[in-house]
This record gives sequence, structure tokens and C-alpha cells, in this order.
Amino acid sequence: MSGWCAANCLEITPKERFLAMLAASLPDLDGLTYFFGQQVYWSTHHIYGHNLVFALLLSGGLAVFCTHKLKCFLLFLCLIHLHFVMDLLGSGEGWTIPYWFPFNKIEYAWSFGWDFNGIENKLAALLFLLGCVAIAVYLKRTPLEFLMPSLDRRLVGWAQKLRIWPRP
Ligand SMILES: [Zn+2]
Repeated sequence: MSGWCAANCLEITPKERFLAMLAASLPDLDGLTYFFGQQVYWSTHHIYGHNLVFALLLSGGLAVFCTHKLKCFLLFLCLIHLHFVMDLLGSGEGWTIPYWFPFNKIEYAWSFGWDFNGIENKLAALLFLLGCVAIAVYLKRTPLEFLMPSLDRRLVGWAQKLRIWPRP
């Protein structure tokens, strides 16, 4: 939702907005190691996808498919770093970001983060959800616009009933 909300602040194409959602989410690819067991998960998640090298490679790799290459590269880079910040704040104790991996073993942590199940994460999710609804109502698009355009149109049609200003 962070990728979708941020992408809608810029003049970019539907494909670029879709790629922005991927950029905001894909650092957690390193969490797929969960399927290989808890021990592997704990030793890989927040490491391989949560560092500057991955951020640059992912931003560049996704920007190749964009019309607005520089604008999207910078957007993707910002979104990946927003992901890191949100992880540091809301993943709970014990999670760090090895930002300079693989060149340096320094891991960053913030002591003023909160519990994963804390109210702060629920409030952040609610704010982003409200942002998605507002985008559907006023910009007339949903995160499905690129992959499922017909369902997107139907959802936008329903969202118009929520419009309070100006009336449709
Ligand atoms: Zn993450």
C-alpha cells in the first residue's frame, strides 16, 4: 500500500505504479526462506533483501521497464528505503538492517521501534488503506489497474459511491 500511495503522487504510467508496488514489497523476498525452516529464515530474512546493494539493483532492474526511467528509479529507491524504515520501526525487537551488506557487517536497529502486533502498525495500515480508498474515489484507480483492469473499473465504480466532494 505504501508503494501504491506514493506512486499516485507522481505522474507515471499504470505499469510504473505497479512496479512501484513491487519495489516497496520485494525486499521481503528474503523472507521466502521461511519455507526452508525457521533456522534458515532467521539467518536470511532482513539480510539479503534489506541492504543498499539490493536496493540499487532492484530499483535499476525495475526502472529498465519504465518510460520515466530516472523518476521511477528514484521513486523505487525511496520506496525500498521506506520499507527499511518501516521494518526498523514496526518489526519488533531483534530485527536489524545490515544496510552495507555484503561489504560491512554493521547492522542498524532503532530502540524506539514498537511491537510487531502493536497499535502503531495497525494505525499505519489503516492510514495506507484509507489512502488507497481515497485514490480509488478521487483518482479513479486501484492497485489492480495494471493486472486486472476490468475488476479495477468495477471497484472504481463502487468507490464513486463514497465520494463526498465534489459529488459525482
Ligand atoms: Zn522487510
